[in-house]
Amino acid sequence: MKKDEEGYDFESQVKARPGIFINGAHHPRELTSITMVMYMMLKFLYEYVNDVRQIESDFIEKRAAFFFIPIVNLDGFLTLENIFKKTGKIYYLRKNKNTSHTKKKCSGKKQYEYGVDLNRNYGYGFGGPNAETDPCGKTYGGPYPFSEPETQSIKKFMEKWTNIKLVLNVHTWGNFICVPFLAGDKKNMEIEAPKYARARAFYDKLETCNFRPKGNKIGNVEQTLGYRAPGTATDWMLSELNVTAITPELGTVSSYSRNFFLASWYAIEEVLT
Ligand SMILES: [Zn+2]
Repeated sequence: MKKDEEGYDFESQVKARPGIFINGAHHPRELTSITMVMYMMLKFLYEYVNDVRQIESDFIEKRAAFFFIPIVNLDGFLTLENIFKKTGKIYYLRKNKNTSHTKKKCSGKKQYEYGVDLNRNYGYGFGGPNAETDPCGKTYGGPYPFSEPETQSIKKFMEKWTNIKLVLNVHTWGNFICVPFLAGDKKNMEIEAPKYARARAFYDKLETCNFRPKGNKIGNVEQTLGYRAPGTATDWMLSELNVTAITPELGTVSSYSRNFFLASWYAIEEVLT
């Protein structure tokens, strides 16, 4: 183990604690997922540094190790940023910018839609019901699981930090907390397997506790959004690593939040005035 100059073995110290991993922007257009992860990170740090005794800082100090990756899909985000700088418009980009799986150029409306949907590129349910086979399609998951550098990085990260017990793969938008198995159908019988008892108990608690934002629905994707999602991070983390994971789809009941980013600049007035 590497030790720093003062002999502090950072890695062992971190590994001795249960880890909570929070990430955003598997899909770059989901800007609120970045903001929320950054906000949580800064809030925890502020509370820790200033000794504000709230539940999170107490948790950090005594029990948990927090991990944050605000942007998983970095090249997608940089593309979005560059287009915004040139045009002032936020480009509706969902996939990464990997051209190597797209043999022919995507044409017509799909011409900008080459690349891989990272949240369809994980190992569980890959290529199953509702999987997109057209490389120009919006939810194309790549030629095989973990074909993309971004998902490979998350896999390596999870395999290194084996102390991680809970993952929030944050997305927008919706008013949902999606729980495994996102690739499953409405009945979602896979989650009933005895090996998932601990995760299922947590999901049940989420269902019944009062801490959820008002109106948030819980369920897999077919139960909340009406379609199946094969190859997601959340499903892979639970099935392969038995790590409890959820996919919060951020949103509120306000019509202003029913988008990947602010639908109306008037919404800002509500917090400024
Ligand atoms: Zn998303």
